[in-house]
Amino acid sequence: STTSADQSETASDNALRARITDDVTALRDSFEAGTTRSIDARLAQLKALQQGLRAERGRLTKALAQDLGKSRLESAITELGVVSEEISQISKNLKRWLKPERFSLGAMLAPASAELRREPLGTTLIIAPWNYPVNLTLSPLIAAIAGGNTVLLKPSEVAPATSSAIAYLVAAHLDPDWVRVVEGAVEETTILLEQRFDLIFYTGNGHVGRIVARAAAEHLTPTVLELGGKSPVFVDDGVDLAVAARRIVWGKFTNAGQTCVAPDYLMATPRTIEHLVPHLRRASRAMYGNRPERARDYGRMVNRKHFDRVRALIDNDKAVLGGTATADRRNRYLPPTIMTDVDWDDPVMGEEIFGPVLPILAVSGPDEAIARIRERDKPLTAYVFTAKKKIEERFATETSSGSLAIGMTLAHIGTPALPFGGVGESGMGQYHGRAGLEAFTHAKPVARKPLTPDTLKLVYPPYRGAKNAL
Ligand code: NAD
Repeated sequence: STTSADQSETASDNALRARITDDVTALRDSFEAGTTRSIDARLAQLKALQQGLRAERGRLTKALAQDLGKSRLESAITELGVVSEEISQISKNLKRWLKPERFSLGAMLAPASAELRREPLGTTLIIAPWNYPVNLTLSPLIAAIAGGNTVLLKPSEVAPATSSAIAYLVAAHLDPDWVRVVEGAVEETTILLEQRFDLIFYTGNGHVGRIVARAAAEHLTPTVLELGGKSPVFVDDGVDLAVAARRIVWGKFTNAGQTCVAPDYLMATPRTIEHLVPHLRRASRAMYGNRPERARDYGRMVNRKHFDRVRALIDNDKAVLGGTATADRRNRYLPPTIMTDVDWDDPVMGEEIFGPVLPILAVSGPDEAIARIRERDKPLTAYVFTAKKKIEERFATETSSGSLAIGMTLAHIGTPALPFGGVGESGMGQYHGRAGLEAFTHAKPVARKPLTPDTLKLVYPPYRGAKNAL
């Protein structure tokens, strides 16, 4: 027997499904009608997005402060600035990057010619996470528009203020024939994933990544999966520890550690650890002061669930900076925390930390550091600080990760000049700049051969003499 509550639930469920289906159908019809085909039209949408970003800067900045305690300047640098630069770069280069690449087909097929054309995929779905909710929602959108696709955007419900600010920006500044937003959580995403798309671009954790990949397989839809993992740092003996410490502290504690490429854990020899720790503490104090809870540029955990999860990973007996004493659940504040004497089977090494906690583990040297990286899942990025070319080269060839940064953290992903993405458990596919355009297009070879002279007649059967040819 169905109760009236069940019935109304089903009714609202149906209404939601109908609304989502309507959006997807509208975007698909618009793509089929050729709305997104012209490069000038794409550039116009990108320009509208750039203008929208400028016009809604206050709204977005306020939302980021609300969701993640991001300061205005941090938001300007790591969110709005990155997006704006991505728009400029892709707009500036779009015509050149889309120019068909010419190929020679060789003497066997002559006379003939060929070119590689980048054609739009169609109607795409972008599912975004909450940690850089403007950057990681709009950067893939830029690539999708540049590629000539229509787009359904699903911002993360875990950063609700930013989700709603993005929905506002899109509605106010972009053409609904190009881009539509569906806000919501698991229920909405599940319905979205039942629809047929031509590409699904997902950023988030590997568990949901698998749900997305499974749903995509049903329609044979390609996916780009931007996932996470535990990104290691190795600090070699003999490097400038003061600079290394600043770069590590900045990479770890920015956005309160909620960064997919944040250094997750640090390895060094006991001797280097002894000298490094004072530098790390000094660097943290220089950036966030003695009372980081009052620092303008120190963020907050996105919600209490994540606060509880990360606080539980802190072992106060091992903390040489921070710890749980000043943690404040109501304000979702966790101090910058550094732990030493951490063991490989401690809870903090069991999962991606995604919070302001840096565990330090002693290794015997680069050999052990490399072996430790190799025995775990392939990380999104790996970091090495060394003064030796040979060690750089060993990390580059003997470890596998989405990217490798030598002598810095984080900064290498803020530029459209480099492709960005994971490998293995940290994901598949890349974007940023030209790589984004490539992810959102199909590289189609177009080959042509004149009908006369019919040189192909050499390959028509019967194959007399084929034996000799081999
Ligand atoms: P999240 O919880 O916001 O999830 C991401 C998206 O998945 C959201 O839009 C959410 O609505 C959707 N989702 C959640 N559960 C779902 C379900 N059961 N079915 C369908 N959709 C569902 O974000 P998160 O996963 O907590 O983000 C953190 C993770 O993302 C970390 O592992 C981090 O390393 C990774 N990450 C990777 C990158 C990258 O660029 N590679 C960037 C940021 C974060």
